[in-house]
Amino acid sequence: MTAQRGPQLEEYRRRRDFGHTSEPKGGRRPRTGARPAFVVQKHDASRLHYDLRLEVDGVLASWAVPRGPSTDPRDKRLAMRTEDHPLEYRDFEGVIPEGEYGAGSVVVWDEGTYRNLTERDGHEVPPGEGLAAGHLSIWIEGRKLSGGYALTRLRRPGREAWLLVKRADEAADPARDPVAEQPESVLTGRTVEEVAAGRRSRRSRAR
Ligand code: MN
Repeated sequence: MTAQRGPQLEEYRRRRDFGHTSEPKGGRRPRTGARPAFVVQKHDASRLHYDLRLEVDGVLASWAVPRGPSTDPRDKRLAMRTEDHPLEYRDFEGVIPEGEYGAGSVVVWDEGTYRNLTERDGHEVPPGEGLAAGHLSIWIEGRKLSGGYALTRLRRPGREAWLLVKRADEAADPARDPVAEQPESVLTGRTVEEVAAGRRSRRSRAR
């Protein structure tokens, strides 16, 4: 048995039929030593959105960002908290079949690691505590996104609505629009449309 993840993945598993979807069931042990993972998946579901996922306590804490991340500190992007995903999900790219939860195509839009910068009264707050308290400050080292971002939960009863905001630092760039300008997968170069059409990766076609 390798189910070390605890109850956080129950909702993830309850929503999916692993006989039909190729998404990972999860069960690998949490990594140790390495910096925690950061990933954004572009998900062309019934509504297109971007799934921001951060490795926290052995799972991927997740938010659905309808407009995707911005590099402009003036933008406040709504980020709806969704169920935790297994760590293996960070390189999932493919088609979730019709009739399954989240049906549609997925590409790994950005990936890398992050550093936790969350503090309270000058002391570091672990990411799991920040998540529970409704505020995370992180430094992202991705391929499309980098620098500081703040995630802050809104005081709205019932739903887990958060805001994702770029910090005003050297990686901020209001002139960039990575969502529009860089739609492709950082793993395979494919767009969600190419994944939906079943095209192979540009890298493998080039061989
Ligand atoms: Mn999604």
